[in-house]
Amino acid sequence: MNEDAGRPASGGGGHIPPHGGEATNCAFTLDHYRELLDAARAGGYRFAHFDELPGRGVVLLRHDVDLSLEAALAMAAVEADADVSSTYFLMTESVFYNLASTEGVSAIARLRELGHRVGLHAVYPRAVLDERFDPVVAWHNPDPEYLSAPIAGAVNVMQDGYFDPPTYRSDSNQRWRFGCPHTELRSAGFPWLQLLTHPEIWVYRGTTMGATMRAMLDAERERRLVQLAADRIDLS
Ligand SMILES: [Zn+2]
Ligand SMILES: [Zn+2]
Repeated sequence: MNEDAGRPASGGGGHIPPHGGEATNCAFTLDHYRELLDAARAGGYRFAHFDELPGRGVVLLRHDVDLSLEAALAMAAVEADADVSSTYFLMTESVFYNLASTEGVSAIARLRELGHRVGLHAVYPRAVLDERFDPVVAWHNPDPEYLSAPIAGAVNVMQDGYFDPPTYRSDSNQRWRFGCPHTELRSAGFPWLQLLTHPEIWVYRGTTMGATMRAMLDAERERRLVQLAADRIDLS
């Protein structure tokens, strides 16, 4: 049940069988994310979106993209390979990426092309939806006062009907508060589930959030150097 309990201290890096086999640990890696998807499928779940109230047997895959469009695209490709569709919540007010840049525009196009939906990861109180987004909003770092309040013209992912603590799991800060859900998914233990994951945590390697963030920053440095060269900056 609480397989999450012993994991962080073990230092991670354990081997996960490439396909089929049972996970030997619950590392935050794209391999294990794929295992989560496979577990949900084995449990008979159907992957749905926020345009329908989740009923029995439904899994809502939600991704809040706080830091990295690149990570979102990597996770989106894994899902597409598994023939799974999910919803990516992107920010228009991020300090980490610019949705209006060419990179941002092509990220949205690519997510759609891979069969995913795009919602708004909004900063309260602004939930300004435009044609880039489906009418669905996830607040970034919400306070309890408005967490589940209805939003005019859009679904709030935490409103009644979409959110209920027993049928919700989140990987926030690289910690499952109630354990990694793969075992319960495989055994159809949830009536339905909203599964919130943050792509950066799964794409960059580290056994703690701090280590993962540092790995992301290392990759970011390389990416920025390429962008600087593309912007005709003399790096000699
Ligand atoms: Zn797991
Ligand atoms: Zn967020």
